Amino acid sequence: PPDDLTGTILGRIRDVPDYPSPGVMFKDITPLLGDHAAFSAVIDALVPGTRVDKVVGIEARGFILAAPVAYHAGAGFVPVRKKGKLPAEALEASYDLEYGSAVIEVHRDAFAPGDRVLIVDDVLATGGTARAAVELVGRAGAEVVGVSVLMELAFLNGRDRLGGVDLRALVVV
Ligand code: AMP
Repeated sequence: PPDDLTGTILGRIRDVPDYPSPGVMFKDITPLLGDHAAFSAVIDALVPGTRVDKVVGIEARGFILAAPVAYHAGAGFVPVRKKGKLPAEALEASYDLEYGSAVIEVHRDAFAPGDRVLIVDDVLATGGTARAAVELVGRAGAEVVGVSVLMELAFLNGRDRLGGVDLRALVVV
């Protein structure tokens, strides 16, 4: 992405220390979302250059980015949600958090066989969430063509957990 996009993003993500727990520097994207020019530039930059059939958004902030990306890409939108939120039959994957673990789900029938899928989220931290989403899409019979995020926190090495999956971050900090 061009440098002006980087500046646009970095200038509109607010660092909130010790949220939601001590030691975490939370990347608050609400200033960016509230700025039409910045939000639309980010969506345009996240639209994939190759054909995709579905764009997956990871609850909750991933939804906000993935839905307009899907619209502009001419693709469908698929939600990956925290366990217990999807109404129909779902596949689940668990992943480790700093303390304990979390479970995410996708509807079993969300994809047609061989669908090409882009996964979108706001922040890649440890990569556990994205890794679990990649696993879910594969188990649901579709092909992950990439993971795209607004911001990658490089010091957490989340990229390494994604194996061979193509990871694109608009900014890396
Ligand atoms: P991880 O599984 O560790 O890569 O965490 C990624 C998920 O948690 C994403 O859905 C992010 O929205 C959220 N997340 C993790 N760390 C942060 C952070 N420092 N600021 C904002 N969101 C975060």
